[in-house]
Amino acid sequence: MNAPAPKVSFVSLGCPKALVDSERIITQLRAQGYELTREHDGADVVIVNTCGFLDSAKAESLEAIGEAMAENGKVIVTGCMGAEPEQIRHKFPNVLAITGPQQYETVVSAVHQAAPPAHDPYLDLVPPQGVKLTPRHYAYLKISEGCSNRCSFCIIPKLRGDLVSRPAGDVLREAEKLAKAGVKELLVISQDTSAYGLDVRYKPSLWKDREVRTRFFDLARELGELGLWVRMHYVYPYPHVDEVISLMAEGRILPYLDIPFQHASPSVLKAMRRPAHQEKTLERIHKWRSICPDLAIRSTFIVGFPGETEADVDFLLSWLKEARLDRVGCFQYEPVQGAPANELAAPVPPEAKEERWHRFMQTQQKVSAKLLKAKVGRTLPVIIDEPGATVATGRTQYDAPEIDGVVYVASRRPLKAGEIVDVAIERSDAYDLHGSAV
Ligand code: SF4
Repeated sequence: MNAPAPKVSFVSLGCPKALVDSERIITQLRAQGYELTREHDGADVVIVNTCGFLDSAKAESLEAIGEAMAENGKVIVTGCMGAEPEQIRHKFPNVLAITGPQQYETVVSAVHQAAPPAHDPYLDLVPPQGVKLTPRHYAYLKISEGCSNRCSFCIIPKLRGDLVSRPAGDVLREAEKLAKAGVKELLVISQDTSAYGLDVRYKPSLWKDREVRTRFFDLARELGELGLWVRMHYVYPYPHVDEVISLMAEGRILPYLDIPFQHASPSVLKAMRRPAHQEKTLERIHKWRSICPDLAIRSTFIVGFPGETEADVDFLLSWLKEARLDRVGCFQYEPVQGAPANELAAPVPPEAKEERWHRFMQTQQKVSAKLLKAKVGRTLPVIIDEPGATVATGRTQYDAPEIDGVVYVASRRPLKAGEIVDVAIERSDAYDLHGSAV
């Protein structure tokens, strides 16, 4: 008789990059015969993959560790917050192990110590594409780790180190496995997708019968051959992005760019030490739209950064009106422990931050609503995320899962998750579209 499989309860917090780390750890554990359980209670060990990006994220991570300690007591902590173990040890001296981000092997050996694997060599426990925490029809594809930029409000490079790009051949093999497993949409992620391959000087690697350079354009072109929806996240407005926009215009990858602009005023961008802060971004956006008129751009912004003046906010708002971005998120600046921006003079008072945030959101809402309304009357391909008896929920090529809007699709036949259907768009509201399957 085989010993029962040890059970692991897993909490995954933070961004898609942390989610990919969780998937890798779980894949290894499943390969070694561990079972996943949704309950801390009764699990042999609990793993908490933490986020340490903002102080509020750290508080959420500490709360998750506290719950796991109370309900189970055998807890391993990993992820971004694990890079600063003192904070965790101070509050929870009895956690079994603390490891930093991407330290998959250390997490797995801590699990071995807490609950040794019950190995069964006759069972193939892991599907070839690994274990995914996303729905079956889409998957995040992480192309690099770390970041070589030094934005003044960010501690990611401190936590995750400088940029390390995965060889293009490895990324493409993973993408192919995902496609074979039924994934229909790939979401390409990293901390700085446009910098992909800089660290290895675009070194070529073998893919099928040819060599492919570890470079943003070359990878995008090859991914575009797989017959999937390929969506690019965390791109910066560098000139070499232009050639990737041509792939979008040719329909090889989705006409979608996620660019975290964070601000528009040159002085704020400079204080933020943002990559590409000297680029003339409006000109760049106009150029991209002349290559690919259908391009959707999503972005995030920060208002209330130290030293931001009323003139900077006016600049930002008129930039926003002219840039006509499809989807936008906005945050009020929050200091992050250990970030150089904390030393900057002239912090913005909380009431001013709040007021600027409202002004920003109102301005953008008008832009978004207009852009969404322009889609009414068109027939667009929509990928179904959630089936429903009469109305399913899906997304157009212009919307990423979790962060952007959705399309509510009325249909006479039941639609399946992952199916791509043509939908006649009949109506729009502030964020979403409504239509009928054709
Ligand atoms: S690009 Fe800037 S904000 Fe993004 S991870 Fe790198 S340093 Fe942080």
